[in-house]
Amino acid sequence: MLTCRDINERSSEYLDQQMSFMQRMNFRMHLMLCKHCSRFMRQLEAVVHTLHRLSPQQSTSEEQLEELVDKLHQDPQA
Ligand SMILES: [Zn+2]
Repeated sequence: MLTCRDINERSSEYLDQQMSFMQRMNFRMHLMLCKHCSRFMRQLEAVVHTLHRLSPQQSTSEEQLEELVDKLHQDPQA
């Protein structure tokens, strides 16, 4: 079973579809059981979606995603 820490660390891999089928299943399983992580991933997905819409030519880089993850963690409203 993945931990919340795993989810945070691998969220960009998940969004970039860089995971194997089994890894994704484990990831989703955790999201189903953990409210905190499912909320976190929803927010992250929403932000990434917005970024893609603003600049559809550019794919979101790993660094951008990591920056977003950090921002979400720091924002007390998130
Ligand atoms: Zn969690």
